[in-house]
Amino acid sequence: MLENLTSQPPDALLALIKMHAADPRQDKIDLGVGVYRTGQGDTPVFAAIKQAEQRLVDQQDSKSYLGPEGDMGFVEALMPYIFGDDPTRGGRIQGMQTPGGTGAVRLAVALAQKAGVERLHMGTPSWPNHAQILGDIALELAPFNHATEDGRADIDAVLAAIDGAHETDAILLHGCCHNPTGVDYTDEEWDRIAEALASKGLFPIVDTAYQGLGHGLEEDAHGVRRVLDAVPEAFVAYSCDKNFGVYRDRVGAFYAKAKNADELETVFSNANALARAAWSMPPDHGGAAVRVILRDADLTKLWLDELDTMRERMRTVRERLAEAGVAGSVDLVPLGRQNGLFSVLPVTPEQVKQLREDHGIYMAGSGRINVAGLTMTNIDKFIAAIADVTG
Ligand code: PMP
Repeated sequence: MLENLTSQPPDALLALIKMHAADPRQDKIDLGVGVYRTGQGDTPVFAAIKQAEQRLVDQQDSKSYLGPEGDMGFVEALMPYIFGDDPTRGGRIQGMQTPGGTGAVRLAVALAQKAGVERLHMGTPSWPNHAQILGDIALELAPFNHATEDGRADIDAVLAAIDGAHETDAILLHGCCHNPTGVDYTDEEWDRIAEALASKGLFPIVDTAYQGLGHGLEEDAHGVRRVLDAVPEAFVAYSCDKNFGVYRDRVGAFYAKAKNADELETVFSNANALARAAWSMPPDHGGAAVRVILRDADLTKLWLDELDTMRERMRTVRERLAEAGVAGSVDLVPLGRQNGLFSVLPVTPEQVKQLREDHGIYMAGSGRINVAGLTMTNIDKFIAAIADVTG
């Protein structure tokens, strides 16, 4: 039986981690793995999370099962941050906890498919797991171009995709801090997208995995709120893994807006059934810690301060890159106006290899870099290396 299986290609980023670990050079730079790093190169546990975890240790009195919806205190505490005032829009938005943003994306597309969606429009390049999930559930992908060559959003491409969509289509949009390009729609572009979605009647799924890492929690929610206000029905996939630094605890949530409370209930009876068959219920610990933070004003303030520090550090790195202007054949200026952890450099796979071999700089073969891997100590070396291999 098992001889019927064929080997799958190894995950390229995991292979990169191994190569980086085996490199003895002291000044090697890891721009591959998608986690935040401090100016010292660490990915520490947030102080707010540590304190919340301590409270859980002291006060949690049971680890008995929750339902497939997970910790609803967590799910509801997040809603004002994502949806703003009137977070349920008069009882038309509800959510459930999922294993990370990945679980939320998986649930959103599987449920959309169950509701009759046959094809999903998506800007490319995108987070590679989007296409993998679609392949796994056999939902057709209709790609459109996400970013222009000068590092801006290709608004014409997304509007054309919406305009040409069929009745049984849906569209997936990144809420903020686009992975991998860092290229987000401006507020005005979101307004146009929201209007186009509403007039076409196209069903949107908004994937928000980095709220607070672009321009701020409120600013980064503009797109998702604008879309949800414009359309009668939508899904949102949300991850807390980056903005609370709880990556391995798998903290996410799935939200739906429906036309009315009755339909919303039916949506969640289906979402619960899908979750039950896939993972039964989400892991509790990280979501519980986030709930403890969001229900406590002091811990919330501590979390917001930590998030500000992260965002400001990434802005400083981006500004420093933009100031460098052109390095070899690479224009670094667009990186200054891009958002979040990632940007894509216009380098060839051969140049990526040269950066690794000659300079100890590790990045994805696509040219994606994690800007949080750069520090004020290694950034000049990085810029010089880009000039060297592309000049
Ligand atoms: N969506 C996007 C766009 C992402 O970049 C990621 C994480 N890399 C996720 C979803 C999933 O996040 P999580 O680690 O919470 O599963």
